[in-house]
Amino acid sequence: MKAIRKKAAAKINLGLDVLGKRDDGYHELRMVMETVGICDRLTLTATRAKGIRLKTNRGFLPRDGRNLAYRAAQLLMEEAGVEDGLYIDLYKKIPVAAGLAGGSSDAAAVLEGVNELFGLGLSRSELMERGARIGADVPYCVMKGPALAEGFGEILTPLDPLPECHIVLAKPAARASTAQVFARFDELANWAHPDIDGQMEGLKRGDLKQVVRCMGNVLELVTIPMVPEVSALKELMMGCGAAGAMMSGSGPSVFGIFEDPEDAKRAYSRLREAPQAAEVFLTEPYEPGPGTGGEDDD
Ligand code: ATP
Repeated sequence: MKAIRKKAAAKINLGLDVLGKRDDGYHELRMVMETVGICDRLTLTATRAKGIRLKTNRGFLPRDGRNLAYRAAQLLMEEAGVEDGLYIDLYKKIPVAAGLAGGSSDAAAVLEGVNELFGLGLSRSELMERGARIGADVPYCVMKGPALAEGFGEILTPLDPLPECHIVLAKPAARASTAQVFARFDELANWAHPDIDGQMEGLKRGDLKQVVRCMGNVLELVTIPMVPEVSALKELMMGCGAAGAMMSGSGPSVFGIFEDPEDAKRAYSRLREAPQAAEVFLTEPYEPGPGTGGEDDD
């Protein structure tokens, strides 16, 4: 039977601001997103046996409708009345529950893959609309690249590319539940807003220093007390020559932006030795490649 291979890339937030909480409980966000070359790999195979089956190298993840990859396939296949079944082989490299939108990116890759595999003919914006029903970050993961995300993350505006740089990403062993981080954030009375407009201006001018100067993530206020390794990892990155270092999303992953590739390599080696980091990656902004949905580092 026909099979399709896809890559699902991680995202980082170069800026993350919370504007407030809406009456429906959702947080009004303003975020500068970027995609990086740390990728999960998916193989989607059409099967004569009906139903969806999912296999993954992360045994602790659910393999049913609680898995976002499964849910994405189910949504499109039910809507289109696809007669065949689907086998999803999900090889995860993106750390789980780490602020890197790994599950959302898997869902986006499945939306694209199922659309191609069964010839459904949905446009990119139709896939993004279906993605919003699965999770707030899924439309962005279909879109990819530098973007401003507003609303609860679903209102997207493409931005100018991040100037050439090297990114080191480190994740502490601890996990940060997004729900818990936002619940604690709600207890804050006020917070300083990062300069998202200044950061977009920096991207427009191709000025990496300005982009980095404007980096800020208000969720660090609550995640750092829960996972102190975040501060330690930021300091280690800066000590290795990073132009800037920050937590991504609700954390606890930390990334450093480096202008000099040698500094980035040194930081990568140094962080791999650091007890505060359980997983470390050396990567770059993501460049989509033909057919596969992008290249990653290995
Ligand atoms: P975000 O940046 O959107 O907050 P995240 O990177 O912090 O997301 P994910 O890795 O997407 O978090 O996983 C969050 C939760 O979603 C996990 O606890 C996991 O059980 C569940 N989940 C469902 N499907 C997947 C998947 N395909 N990959 C990873 N996690 C998944």
